Amino acid sequence: MAAVQLSGIYKRYGDTQVVHGIDLHIDDGEFVVLVGPSGCGKSTLMRMVAGLEEISGGELTIGGTRANGLPPQQRNISMVFQSYALYPHLSVYDNIAFGPRIRKEAATRFKPRIEAAAKMLNLSGYLDRLPRALSGGQRQRVAMGRAVVREPSLFLFDEPLSNLDAKLRVQMRTEIKALHQRLKNTVIYVTHDQIEAMTMADRIVVMNAGRIEQIGRPLELYDRPANLFVASFLGSPSMNFAAGVMVSAANGVALQLGDGVQIPLHGVNGVSGATAKPGAKVTLGVRPEHIEASNEGIPMDVEVIEPTGAETHLYGKIGGASWCVTMRQRASIEPGQRVTVRFPEQHMHLFDTESGRRLG
Ligand code: ADP
Repeated sequence: MAAVQLSGIYKRYGDTQVVHGIDLHIDDGEFVVLVGPSGCGKSTLMRMVAGLEEISGGELTIGGTRANGLPPQQRNISMVFQSYALYPHLSVYDNIAFGPRIRKEAATRFKPRIEAAAKMLNLSGYLDRLPRALSGGQRQRVAMGRAVVREPSLFLFDEPLSNLDAKLRVQMRTEIKALHQRLKNTVIYVTHDQIEAMTMADRIVVMNAGRIEQIGRPLELYDRPANLFVASFLGSPSMNFAAGVMVSAANGVALQLGDGVQIPLHGVNGVSGATAKPGAKVTLGVRPEHIEASNEGIPMDVEVIEPTGAETHLYGKIGGASWCVTMRQRASIEPGQRVTVRFPEQHMHLFDTESGRRLG
């Protein structure tokens, strides 16, 4: 087991800097997910931890030992990739035994470990098969088995589920989480999928353009996103936003949206001092599931209705912007119909429009 410390980690390719000074401490046994849009530098960061990319600046320690420049095989890590990278001509058993054999371990030592891993990963009946005779999920499990028998102090997963179909992805997500709960190893897991991040992580690191936007427990980030980027990245359907200007209103202040609709902000967290000054540019954010239907309130002309079975998404315009409202109960609403909604105060997020930073 190992804690991992990244201090001021940089990566440059020639003149181009792609990772801009990352500081991150990962506790021993923690499951940390690096998430962000494609090209934000997650894989590069993980590959620097693995020793597959040179670190341009900063310090990396694994298990308290400085690891900059240490060859990958001396870092005591296992990595699972998106492409399972199995040897097609070797059986499941031989694929899993490949590493121990290369390291010239005695079969009496590694055989029990392989059998235990196969049992844990539901592969016991498949040890003689070739990879081509396995399903995608089984192949991914073999790749994990290979990682597990190394008994590494640190597991690195780089988008391991991206090649699987939607149903299998959900199943493997649960399996990887269960595996971690059993082995209690340190995990760094890279994905662009915010649902994977939310469901699997002890802590999520949201990255954007080579920088960390926010670090925290999944629900902390969901409930209190630090900025517009994190607010829009986590959650599906995404948080709704409408930009407006603060105005004086009868009962304190209100946010006047693009189409003139005024949202009273009396009692809303984040409304104070400079923010509340008339003229301040503020963006309101509300998650679709937090919007309530009400007899009076803000009008929304419904344009599109999407029933998913468990819930119904209504799409329409609020404050001149396109918004989504999620309803748990079924309702007979038709496109073209006008509904009125309200936003509970505790679920209104306010952001400084220019900096994108959360207010309050
Ligand atoms: P992610 O994993 O978040 O999709 P990457 O870490 O793969 O992002 O890439 C981060 C940035 O670094 C991207 O802009 C990418 O184009 C750039 N990059 C990655 N590898 C190289 C390379 N070998 N040479 C130059 N630029 C690279």
